[in-house]
Amino acid sequence: MHQKDKEFFKKKWSLVGGSLLVGGLLLLGTYADVVLGAVNESNTATLERGRLAKSQAAIKHYDVRYPVTHVEKVDEAMRSYATRRVDAFLQQLGDREIDPRNDLTLHYSVLHFGTRTATVAFEEQQQLFNQPPNSSQTVMTFDLESQKRLELADVFKDKAIAEQTVGRILHDYFQHNMTAQLSPVELRQLSHFQFSNVRDFRLVNDRIVLYLDPSNLISGKNIQTIQIKKELLADVLKSAYAPPDPSILRGASEQAVYTIDVMPKHEIAIDPNGKMLALTFDDGPGVLTPQVLDVLKKHDAHATFFLIGRQVSTYPGVVKRTIAEGNEIGNHTWDHPNLTKLPLGEIGRQVERTQQVIHQVTGGYTPLLLRPPGCAFNDTVTSYAGTHKLSLALWNVDTRDWLDRDAQLVYSRIMESAADGRVILLHDIHPTSVEAAVRAVPDLVAQGYQLVTVSELDHYR
Ligand code: ZN
Repeated sequence: MHQKDKEFFKKKWSLVGGSLLVGGLLLLGTYADVVLGAVNESNTATLERGRLAKSQAAIKHYDVRYPVTHVEKVDEAMRSYATRRVDAFLQQLGDREIDPRNDLTLHYSVLHFGTRTATVAFEEQQQLFNQPPNSSQTVMTFDLESQKRLELADVFKDKAIAEQTVGRILHDYFQHNMTAQLSPVELRQLSHFQFSNVRDFRLVNDRIVLYLDPSNLISGKNIQTIQIKKELLADVLKSAYAPPDPSILRGASEQAVYTIDVMPKHEIAIDPNGKMLALTFDDGPGVLTPQVLDVLKKHDAHATFFLIGRQVSTYPGVVKRTIAEGNEIGNHTWDHPNLTKLPLGEIGRQVERTQQVIHQVTGGYTPLLLRPPGCAFNDTVTSYAGTHKLSLALWNVDTRDWLDRDAQLVYSRIMESAADGRVILLHDIHPTSVEAAVRAVPDLVAQGYQLVTVSELDHYR
């Protein structure tokens, strides 16, 4: 396929293969957290909740939670689901019900909470003594106006026509998509798509996300999650569900599923003799980071992002995308302390915890760079980095963008200081810095700079 066609498909389609990701979403204020169990001998205060209180002896070891949205029938549906799961568990236990080796947890993540629909995922784990642990997941999507739980067919005008349309979209996409080679037979299977192949779904802002039934996975291709832009389904969606429905939960726009194995990697050849510089962005990830990623991607440019560990799991989609698009991630400690004021053990915890969360969220990426907050380091920091195979990554241009929140000023500082081999410090948490970067990237590229990562610059300079 020609490069131009690829670009066309990248733009026109938004459809990503990968595994079902749940979690990492911050719940702020909107929800009360109902705990149906959370019971152990030392914590019996929570036993007084509703009908479960009467079987105190039975509720030894389970922890069952569901959100309260204050949308009456939605809450009712989730409450009754949770209660049914507890009943089923207790029934299975029978006379072993007080054996503490049996255990049930039911936790949830709110995947989307818009003005029209909401989606909640329940994760259940059961441990019955002498049996292997059993885990499962249930995703529920609700219409917040009718207060009804939605099946996939409910969001379309006509099920059969919608299946045909989705089938055609999948067929055409995978026929043209280089990253997942499907045989003609598999393509034909895709075009005969049926809603019974879909285990769960959600409507999130401008797209519909389908979680395919594992038994119907397109053989060996690991295609489990498919996102389709609503605009591609405009003719078949019911009008209530066609408009964008952004989540009112902070962080919910970060729920896109990116899968490093499936996303195309940018393999851009670097000309060692051409001029190059490294843009670096500290203190993220944050809500503005995708704007920086967008402009980098558009201009085949790359940058290095020094992440604060404690923010990483709030923006898993952004962090995965950062790596998937060929950028570099560095460690900027867990919560940004002055490392020179900490004993060695505490430095280690700051760095190691951040390494772990990045590794976990990206599915295996380990940063090689450590940037000490405020550029504060001493011999202890240097020797810690040395013994842990981390390079201290500093900079040689400070745009002082954290001080002067002026996009024009920051932009001119970037442009004036640009030179071969430079490492430029910015912060992608300030709108002014992001605006400056969005302007500077195309201009630097136009001046012939290769925008590379810190490790790439290190390699060539
Ligand atoms: Zn910083």
